[in-house]
Amino acid sequence: MFFKPIIFINKFLQYIMNLGGLLVKKKVQEKTHPKLPDKKKVQEKTHPKLPDNPVIIKLLNQIAGKRGHEVANVLSGKELTDDEVANQMGIRINLVRRILYELYENRFANYRRVRDENSGWYIYYWQLDPERALEYVNTNQRQLLQKLEEQLELENNTIYFSCNNECPKMPFEQAMENDFKCPKCGGKLESYDNSNVTTSLKQRIQSLRQQTLGN
Ligand SMILES: [Zn+2]
Repeated sequence: MFFKPIIFINKFLQYIMNLGGLLVKKKVQEKTHPKLPDKKKVQEKTHPKLPDNPVIIKLLNQIAGKRGHEVANVLSGKELTDDEVANQMGIRINLVRRILYELYENRFANYRRVRDENSGWYIYYWQLDPERALEYVNTNQRQLLQKLEEQLELENNTIYFSCNNECPKMPFEQAMENDFKCPKCGGKLESYDNSNVTTSLKQRIQSLRQQTLGN
């Protein structure tokens, strides 16, 4: 019962504010909102440029080819819509979108989505993110390296058996369980020389290590 008068007073105050307060409110809003900085200055400051790093350039060409490299050049240090990129390059917007998507998939580009108040459509502002792409590649390479090393260890520590009919090889224990008869073709299982496998694994590991070190 104590709350009723308070609610009444609140409603009364709201009524007064609605009558006379609208103009005052607007002025206060204008005062308290900080002035937006010049858009061009912000662009120059915050959007990454395409670095002059041969590893990144090579990666870019692998991801999106020559056109991708050109799109990245146009986007370098800027934030642009797909439309603006297409206009600057004089190529079809669908092609630009495809390239931007490829770059995005590989973490090479990122976008900021803004809803257009007039049309209700989303506008995508694209910018480069080459450092993130490099990080992504390095992470993938490290994971691959780890997998290959695990596989090499397994190959080194296992005695394999196989038939001569290109069926999958199997470890000694499994061959014994099958009485040294191939479960797939019935052929005789004999010890299998996996040195080709280990050699090629070692080569892949070595070249991958050099690449990751090169990054
Ligand atoms: Zn077989």
